[in-house]
Amino acid sequence: MDTAIRDILQRSQRILAICHVNPDGDALGSLLGFGWALKEMGKETALACADPVPPFYQYLPGHEEIVQQPVGEFDLVVSLDCSDAQRMGDSYRDEYRRLPLLNVDHHVTNLRFGTFNLVDLEAASTAEIIFLMLDELALPLDPPIAQCLLTGIVTDTRGFRTASCTPRVLSIANRLMAAGASLPEIVSRTLDRRPLAAIRLWAQALPGAQLRGRVLWTEVTEAMRAATGLATVDDSGLVNFLLTAEEADVAVVFSEKNGGQEVEVGFRARPGWDVAQVALALGGGGHMLASGVTVRGTLPEVRERVLALLDESLAAQERAHRIT
Ligand code: AMP
Ligand code: MN
Ligand code: MN
Repeated sequence: MDTAIRDILQRSQRILAICHVNPDGDALGSLLGFGWALKEMGKETALACADPVPPFYQYLPGHEEIVQQPVGEFDLVVSLDCSDAQRMGDSYRDEYRRLPLLNVDHHVTNLRFGTFNLVDLEAASTAEIIFLMLDELALPLDPPIAQCLLTGIVTDTRGFRTASCTPRVLSIANRLMAAGASLPEIVSRTLDRRPLAAIRLWAQALPGAQLRGRVLWTEVTEAMRAATGLATVDDSGLVNFLLTAEEADVAVVFSEKNGGQEVEVGFRARPGWDVAQVALALGGGGHMLASGVTVRGTLPEVRERVLALLDESLAAQERAHRIT
C-alpha cells in the first residue's frame, strides 16, 4: 500500500464502501471485513451493494448493515472486487463521482478507474488485499473480521483449489483461522450448500449441454428459472460443474434475464487458457480462468456471437502457444 493510499484512509472520516452487483463471497466478505476494520479505526462507515445479500451469505457478521442505496455525506468512496466502476451498479450514485475513489481489486481486467488504485493481480481474492492492508495498518484481527475475510478467500479459491491459491493465501488463511474464523462453517455455508431449486435447474440445463471443439456450453432460460422457482441469477456452480468434463477446456453458461433482453454469460477455463480477454472485449471482465459479462440481445443472438468470438480467441491462443 503506498503512502497516498494510507494517507487518504487515515484522513477520511466518513467512508462509503461498495462491492459489486450480484455479490459473491469475496464481494461480501471483503466489504464486511473492511467495514469492521474501519469501525476499529473509529471511522463513520456505510456499506453498500446494489443487490440484496443472498440468504446463504447471511451468516456473515454485519450483513444486516449493508444497504442498497447509501444515504449521507462522505469523504471517500472505496470500491471492492470491482473491475470497472459500472460493477458498483446504482449504489455508486452520480453525486459520489466528485469524491475521491479508492479501487481495491484483483481482476486482471481491472480498468484502474479510481483516483487511487490498490490492484494486486497476484491476490487470489480482494479479501486477501484487505488482510494485507490491515496488517500494514497494524489493526488487530478479531473473529468477525476473520470470518468475513476467510469467506472471501475460500469462495474465490473454491476451497483452496484454484491456480490462484499461493503459499501466501494459505498462510493468510492460517492467521485468519487462528484469529477465530471457522473454515468448516464457511465451506458448508458457501461451497457445499445450494437451494434444491438450483439442483432442479441444473437438471433442466444439463441435457442441452453441447460440446463445440473443446468448449462445453449450455443455456438457462427464464422459463427454466420460473419452473424451478429460483429467483437469483447465479450460475457459477453450474459452469464450474461443466468444466469438470474431461473433454472440455472451456465451459460457458448463457443465462437469459430481464425479460429476454439480456444474457449473463459465465466463462471458465482450464489452466493454460484465458477467458478474461473475451469477457473484456464484450464489456465484462474477470480472471484468466473465470470471467463473465452481461450482453444485450436474445439468447440465440448472444450465444452465436459469443461462441464465435470465443472460437477466434481460443484459436489465436493456440497459434501463440505453438509459436512460443
Ligand atoms: P461468475 O461466473 O459470476 O462467478 O464470475 C466469474 C468472474 O467474472 C468473477 O471474477 C466476476 O467478478 C467476473 N464477472 C462476472 N460477471 C461480470 C460482469 N458482468 N462484468 C465484469 N466482470 C464479471
Ligand atoms: Mn467477486
Ligand atoms: Mn474476487
